[in-house]
Amino acid sequence: MYGIVLSRRDFREADQVITILTAEEGKREYIARGVKKIVSKNTSHLEPATLISFGIAEGKKEFSYLTNVQPVESFFHLRQSLPTLHIIGYSLDALFTMLKEGEADSDIYQLYISYLRFLNTQEQVRLLLLDAFLIKLFSHLGYHPSLDACVVCEKTYKEIGLEFLSATEQKPGFYFAGGGIICASCKAEKQRIGEVAYPCGIKEINTLRFLLASSWQDVVSFPLDEEEYRLVHKLIYEFMLYHSERKWDDWGKISLIMT
Ligand SMILES: [Zn+2]
Repeated sequence: MYGIVLSRRDFREADQVITILTAEEGKREYIARGVKKIVSKNTSHLEPATLISFGIAEGKKEFSYLTNVQPVESFFHLRQSLPTLHIIGYSLDALFTMLKEGEADSDIYQLYISYLRFLNTQEQVRLLLLDAFLIKLFSHLGYHPSLDACVVCEKTYKEIGLEFLSATEQKPGFYFAGGGIICASCKAEKQRIGEVAYPCGIKEINTLRFLLASSWQDVVSFPLDEEEYRLVHKLIYEFMLYHSERKWDDWGKISLIMT
């Protein structure tokens, strides 16, 4: 079987629990025996964000043991850059946290492989690549944002845009509980009854559409100034917080990486 290592942690005296993402079985934990011994030849292949091939031996109790681990792609290049490592670390954490054990999803597996391969070819990365990965991931996980019409009154995206152009105080919003965009008047109504309708402009909605539909290469070359980045990033970050059961560090604050 092929899989990407998501994490490793110590277990018993000489063993480790390795969490691996595969197309066939989703996220699962396996025991790697004896990896903490210096002589173990498996150790370096089991670094997070490595694509490996492996076999499984069913053990006593509920454990599955890794056998015959072979590196397939180690993505050597991306490990040489600190900004890229930040992005990888965050993406691994998001997958590890958000995926349910044993739920196969080959789209997410393919999404992540394409991401690692792409990052491995880049001399420089930008933070927008992490925003793009996270919104694509959440979209695959069943939280695809609805961007074509107001999720309350069904006014179309085009009508919402025209409304905004004719009067810029008619700013639409993003209604997290409804899973998508909301027109200015429905937003005002939701806010009046105390619900969260996050204000967002047409530009952020456009950028969100673009990130969901585009290749990694197109994301890298997408023109976005600092302020525009900040606005769309904030929206994605709040969206992710809303759909997670945990707190996330704000990756927009990693000053090391350009936006
Ligand atoms: Zn509406």
